[in-house]
Amino acid sequence: MRAATPFLDRAEVHRPGVAELLGDLIHTPSLSSEEEAVVNLLVERMTTLGYDEVRVDGFGSVIGRIGSGPIKIVYDSHIDTVGVGSRSEWRTEPFEPVIDGDRQHGVMLGRGASDDKGGMAAMVYGAALYKQMGADENVTLYVVGSVQEEDCDGLALENLLLHTLPRPDLVVLGEATNLDVFRGNRGRIEVLIRTRGSSCHAAAPERGVNPVYSLSPLIADIEDLNRHLGHDDFLGAGTVALTKIECETPSLNAVPSTASIYLDRRLTAGEDPAGALDAIRDLPSVRAAGAEVSLLTYQRTSFTGMRLGQEKSFATWVLPEDHMGVQAGLATGLTALDRKQEIGHWVFSTNGVASMGKLGIPTIGFGPANEIHAHTVADQCPIDDLVQAIAWYAAFPAEYARGHSSASPR
Ligand SMILES: [Zn+2]
Repeated sequence: MRAATPFLDRAEVHRPGVAELLGDLIHTPSLSSEEEAVVNLLVERMTTLGYDEVRVDGFGSVIGRIGSGPIKIVYDSHIDTVGVGSRSEWRTEPFEPVIDGDRQHGVMLGRGASDDKGGMAAMVYGAALYKQMGADENVTLYVVGSVQEEDCDGLALENLLLHTLPRPDLVVLGEATNLDVFRGNRGRIEVLIRTRGSSCHAAAPERGVNPVYSLSPLIADIEDLNRHLGHDDFLGAGTVALTKIECETPSLNAVPSTASIYLDRRLTAGEDPAGALDAIRDLPSVRAAGAEVSLLTYQRTSFTGMRLGQEKSFATWVLPEDHMGVQAGLATGLTALDRKQEIGHWVFSTNGVASMGKLGIPTIGFGPANEIHAHTVADQCPIDDLVQAIAWYAAFPAEYARGHSSASPR
């Protein structure tokens, strides 16, 4: 059967290669800050595929470059994964890639297949095909495999965009979009609420103050708050979830001295980190308990030895539907895939919180696989998705360059 477009036709050539690369990536575990082996693998593959330059930045993210034109596009997929959780829940070995169904057209299973190693493998080959089909002389294309996204979304990409690469015109994220074009995700903050009591012997609790008891009305207020948060037609509602509870106690027969809860607060369009934090501080139960409310911070040393950190505050971002980046994405769907793509957004957070949320660089998403499989024991990516994604990634730079040169500066 003939492929529907020249891009799909040429992408077929890379079907065995991309499936092999995804298998190798899955077979090489890469928890956050333990990505070195995967970086080495990608450096080798990009070099073999004829990238113009391949290097690794100080924090450990790998960067391949093709071309040197004035229009700069960054393709970014993160190369770390979450852990495996309970192994007994897996039907397959998480780090032994298996293909469910036909060898050529089946679905590859394994940790990271959908998030985000499938996107990475397809970008690596898509950019190579872009070069093979005649790279646009007006474009510099960077293919980035960024580290530590699962632990602190945006941190590695922000560092790279600020210190290693010139400011790009557009960032394309390879997180799973089911081959559609995505243009935003909710931001988030991670919050700690701590109450202090007065510890004493549990045999005479009236001598002390139990800080856990003052959490009880506070937890009810948080649950109620979740029903009254902002709403946006595109991104949906803001949410808050209590994710952890703990207390500090000298023993199991003592009244604790402090008690803490942790919140995951997702911010929809129109909500911002500072306002969301203030709203929690203003809850009557938080005031009554005299509770401390603070943002959590992230600090981690990369496998390269560089240490970076930030507050766990991640900005909401949405690129308007009529933006040239989104429109070039949709045009690429027609050119490369002969298909009209849907426009959507991610339920979870991505590196876009840095590229667009923090730095204001227009960002879109396109990737193989369905996000419903991310972080699950059925983590998977169809091989057909990889081939279609190669075609799209190969066609996009020229499509974007066309829109860029015809658009008025904005
Ligand atoms: Zn991801």
